[in-house]
Amino acid sequence: MSRVALVTGGTRGIGKAISVMLKQKGYTVIANYGGNDEAAKAFSEETGIPVIKFDVGKFSDCEAAIKKIESEHGPVDVVVNNAGITRDAVLHRMTPTQWEEVIQTNLTSCFNLARLVIDKMRERGFGRIVNIGSINGQAGQYGQVNYAAAKSGIHGFTKALAQEGAAKGVTVNAIAPGYVDTDMVRAVPPAVLEKIIAKIPVGRLGHAEDIARGVCFLVADDADFITGTTLSINGGQHMY
Ligand code: NDP
Repeated sequence: MSRVALVTGGTRGIGKAISVMLKQKGYTVIANYGGNDEAAKAFSEETGIPVIKFDVGKFSDCEAAIKKIESEHGPVDVVVNNAGITRDAVLHRMTPTQWEEVIQTNLTSCFNLARLVIDKMRERGFGRIVNIGSINGQAGQYGQVNYAAAKSGIHGFTKALAQEGAAKGVTVNAIAPGYVDTDMVRAVPPAVLEKIIAKIPVGRLGHAEDIARGVCFLVADDADFITGTTLSINGGQHMY
């Protein structure tokens, strides 16, 4: 039986590359998305990977989704908490809604999904959770107090849960991507992007596959001695 992997935000950008690479490695992959039905349909047709729409920030929605996945595919062995959004503004202009949406989608989602799979992972003595953080959670970023707080929170969440899961075969790790060429980064004004690329020693934006490769490494059955770590994949932009 192949391992069952849920990738949140798994239909576009980095998540899409993660879903595809895990499938290539033999996992039974289920890709979640939040609202873009068109992209999800195209993704599913292209890859043959089933998709499931739910809001990762809402516990009851996650609960219903995990129940459905378990009934169709069996218990979830791997969760990749990848879904994320930005709502950028400097703090003196940031609204409570911009703060709450980012915390909910990027950080509360990690609690929701981990909470819903952890009991069965502990019972079965196997689990892999990978949370996608960000270079901006490590270094901070102008205009992203909400996003940096959420991503920084992910790194603490990862280390704490790793301690709880270690004796039960459940590893919990994070990846902190640098700037990766996806829709999220294409939304950055070109002049700003040029300045960002100039600061990346490798001299280019990351590819989604660069991050997917890291996920595959961390979720492998024989990666059982790697837990509580944050893998920075950023072309040398920030050495933490
Ligand atoms: P994209 O914007 O390209 O894709 C985001 C994905 O998340 C989509 O599948 C989207 O679904 C899904 N999503 C968003 N909100 C929700 C929600 N509430 N519930 C369920 N799914 C949701 O993002 P990226 O691929 O660029 O980023 C992926 C992750 O990597 C994020 O966590 C991001 O913060 C992080 N990251 C990205 C970097 C980059 O340079 N791109 C750098 C550092 C970190 P839908 O298609 O329905 O909208």
